[in-house]
Amino acid sequence: MAEPDFYLSEEQRELQRALREFVGKEIAPIAAACDAEERYPLEIFSKLGGLGYLGLRFPEDVGGSGGTCLDYAILCEELAFGSAGIALGIYVHMALACAALEAFGTETMKETWLPPALRGEKIGAWAFAEAGAGSDAGSIATRAVADGDDFVLNGSKLFITNGPIADFLIVVASTEPEQRLKGLSLFLVERDRPGFKVAGSLSKLGVRASEMAELVFEDCRVPRENLIGRENRGFLDSLRTLTLGRIASAAFATGVARAAFEATLDYAGKRKQFGQPIGSFQAVRFGIADMAVQIEASRLLCHRAAIAADQGLPHGREANMAKLFATEACTKIVERALHFHGAAGFMSESPIQRFYRDCKVFELGEGSSELQRDMIAREIGL
Ligand SMILES: Cc1cc2nc3c(=O)[nH]c(=O)nc-3n(C[C@H](O)[C@H](O)[C@H](O)COP(=O)(O)OP(=O)(O)OC[C@H]3O[C@@H](n4cnc5c(N)ncnc54)[C@H](O)[C@@H]3O)c2cc1C
Repeated sequence: MAEPDFYLSEEQRELQRALREFVGKEIAPIAAACDAEERYPLEIFSKLGGLGYLGLRFPEDVGGSGGTCLDYAILCEELAFGSAGIALGIYVHMALACAALEAFGTETMKETWLPPALRGEKIGAWAFAEAGAGSDAGSIATRAVADGDDFVLNGSKLFITNGPIADFLIVVASTEPEQRLKGLSLFLVERDRPGFKVAGSLSKLGVRASEMAELVFEDCRVPRENLIGRENRGFLDSLRTLTLGRIASAAFATGVARAAFEATLDYAGKRKQFGQPIGSFQAVRFGIADMAVQIEASRLLCHRAAIAADQGLPHGREANMAKLFATEACTKIVERALHFHGAAGFMSESPIQRFYRDCKVFELGEGSSELQRDMIAREIGL
């Protein structure tokens, strides 16, 4: 039988092997404690940065390590296998904050922020959502008003991952309110900028190792040089370019699903009822077989989107399909995993209950399932 990922290159297999070792040594042992304490292990940034993993897909002249989108998908799956919460903090930093700087930032921004960020010495956040603006980005109310050589920001952001720990933020603000989506710009805001404050940390159901905050901007003055990309078009440009987020979501979901699957496979072989392992009962065997198929389908869709991106082919539809399928499959797989663990999976010390709390967020972030279906329907001609 061929290895399921026989199409990976030798280098990609080596990357996968090295990441599995890293996650087994550095992430898996602390995942439960970070979840329980709602604490991000900051040292993971510098450890991943020191090994060049944070620089994956970034060019070498800004401190990156090069590599492909497929390499990045492998990284995301392995990190999420160890801890979805820890993976989320890394994702926001790499795929949103650093990627926006790299794609649209000025040379000065790139030189100042990217090398330390890719070494894991500076942490980034992506501040888009607000109390009144989630799926509907056009209703963003945070205002950035031009004043001489500056912009003055006023408003607040909600649900911002890395908010409590970030050194720099990419803030989406309205520069032309009546234009809604076509009036949104991106700004770099440094943590110590007067008028910016972290209003308070937020507690969550899942991905609890990642830290989240509400952010407030009160007459926060940023120089025009902090505008990222085109005025009024920065956010729309980033939507078109930053498709990595959906590929990453699919990979995260595959990682969490695989963790739940491997635990269930092991448990079904060990747990005996009626004098035999529960894995010998057809209902359980079929359930676990379905999990295996769904995980491989998720990974294939995800890798297809990543390979299309690497080949410079259009891949928006592929990324949307991968994200939709893998995230919904993950929720189903984790639910079955909990079911087959019985009461043992329901206990606080079981990793299964953590996967159960973690998985749902992938269906909500980076475009909820409804928005994904809407985009796919449009992309297939409806
Ligand atoms: C763990 C976590 C981390 C996050 N991190 C960040 C972050 O770092 N930065 C950031 O900016 N934001 C972050 N967010 C917020 C995220 O961006 C929003 O959750 C997302 O944009 C969805 O918005 P909402 O939650 O307000 O849901 P809403 O947009 O209010 O949607 C609620 C429900 O309505 C449905 N719905 C909405 N519009 C439609 C439609 N047109 N058709 C059909 N159904 C629709 C949705 O599918 C959903 O089921 C995070 C959220 C979570 C949970």
